[in-house]
Amino acid sequence: MAIIITDECIACGACEPECPNQAISEGEIYIIDPDLCTECVGAFDEPQCAAVCPVDCCVPDPDREETKEDLQARYEKIHSK
Ligand code: SF4
Repeated sequence: MAIIITDECIACGACEPECPNQAISEGEIYIIDPDLCTECVGAFDEPQCAAVCPVDCCVPDPDREETKEDLQARYEKIHSK
């Protein structure tokens, strides 16, 4: 399940440098590329963007249910390039 940034985002930018997959980019608010988000599986024990967000707007996307194995496989694919 990828993490999604809700419209509660205040565009502070705290999350962007924390992502191990460079999945976060700045738009009107910050956005996460779901094809790059692994919920930090492979790198950290918990989603780093959610851990640093001051307004708790980085939340699991219920439309993207994925297993830990799927997320780990994505992490390995991203970092094998
Ligand atoms: Fe990046 Fe981790 Fe947040 Fe996903 S959960 S966007 S991999 S920091």
